[in-house]
Amino acid sequence: MMIETAELTKTYNGRGGCRGITLQVQEGSIFGLLGPNGAGKSTFVKMLAGLHRPDSGRATVLGQPLGRPEARRKLGYLPELFRFQDWLTPAEVLRFHGQLGGLRPQETRSPAFRARVRDTLDLVGLSEAADRRVGGFSKGMQQRLGLAAALLLEPELVILDEPASALDPVGRYEIRSLLKQLRKRGVTVFLNTHLLEDVEELCDAAAFLYGGELLAAGPLHELLGGTGGVSWRFRLGGWLPESWEELASATGGTQAPLLHLAEADDQGNALLTARVTDREQAGYLCSLFIRSGLTLYESGPEPNSLEAWFLRMAESRKGGVRQ
Ligand code: ADP
Repeated sequence: MMIETAELTKTYNGRGGCRGITLQVQEGSIFGLLGPNGAGKSTFVKMLAGLHRPDSGRATVLGQPLGRPEARRKLGYLPELFRFQDWLTPAEVLRFHGQLGGLRPQETRSPAFRARVRDTLDLVGLSEAADRRVGGFSKGMQQRLGLAAALLLEPELVILDEPASALDPVGRYEIRSLLKQLRKRGVTVFLNTHLLEDVEELCDAAAFLYGGELLAAGPLHELLGGTGGVSWRFRLGGWLPESWEELASATGGTQAPLLHLAEADDQGNALLTARVTDREQAGYLCSLFIRSGLTLYESGPEPNSLEAWFLRMAESRKGGVRQ
C-alpha cells in the first residue's frame, strides 16, 4: 500500500476538518477523493503531505509514518491554493522548488537539472511560456506550473488537490492524459476533486467524504456497481405523489427497493433511477410504469453513474441514513 490511514482525525478546535478516516491506496493506482466543498478533503491531504499534524489516528505514506523526510522526498504535492512569486519565470520557480526539495544550489544549475526542468515544463504544456514572468500567467497556466513543481523531482506518489479546477476542457483533457502517463510509469496519484468525470475516467478506486466523515471507499467498479448491475434511468410523465406508493405496492416489495425518485416537479414529470441486473429487468419496470398509468418518455442506462452515486451518497447522509 502506498497510503494507509487508520482513524485519522484532524479538527480545528473541535470543528470542521475530518474524523476517523480509514483508507488504503494501492501502489501504482489513481485514487480519487470525492466530496462536496467543506467535506474535509484538503484537511485529509494536508495530513498526508505532512502539513497538518493529526489530532489522533495513524497513517503511513510510502511505508513511513507521516511527516518523515525520507517519505516526503518521494512525494509531490500540489496544494489547492498557492501563489508563485510574480517576478520569476517558470524555470526559476522550478529551480527554487528543486532547492526546497533538497537539491544544492549548484545542483540546480547542472545541465541534467536544466533538462529535467525543460522536460517537466513540456510535460505540463508550458514550454512556450518558459521564459515569461509568472505574474502574467492565467489561472490555468499557474495550475500547470503547480503541477510541474509537484512532478519535478520524479515523485513516487503525487498528491494533487483539485489539479484541474482552473483549467478549460482542453486543459483538463491534457491533465487527464498526463495522469494516465504517470500511472503507466508506476507513479501513484492521489487526487482530490469534485470533477466526477475525472474520477470516472481515471480512477481505479475512490472514497467519498461528507461532513468530515468517510461514507464509502473502494474500487470504482464496486462503488458504482454496488451489488452488481447497472444504474438505469426512467423519465416519466403523469407522476403524482401517490404514484410512488402505487408502484411500491405493485412490485410487491421485491422491486421497490430498486427504485429511487431522483427528481419530480409539479407538472408530473419525474426522473426515477434503479439499479437493474439486466435489460429485461429494466423492461419489466417499464411495463410496470405503463400499467400504473404513467407515461414513459425515456429509459436507458445512466449517462453519468458516478454523479448519481455522488448525489445518492450526499442525499442518504442528509437524511441521516448511513450506507
Ligand atoms: P474540502 O477540501 O473538502 O473543501 P476542507 O478540508 O478545506 O474541505 O474543510 C473541511 C472543514 O474544515 C470545513 O468546514 C472548513 O470550514 C473547516 N476548515 C478547513 N480549514 C480550516 C482552518 N484552517 N481553520 C478552521 N476551519 C477550517
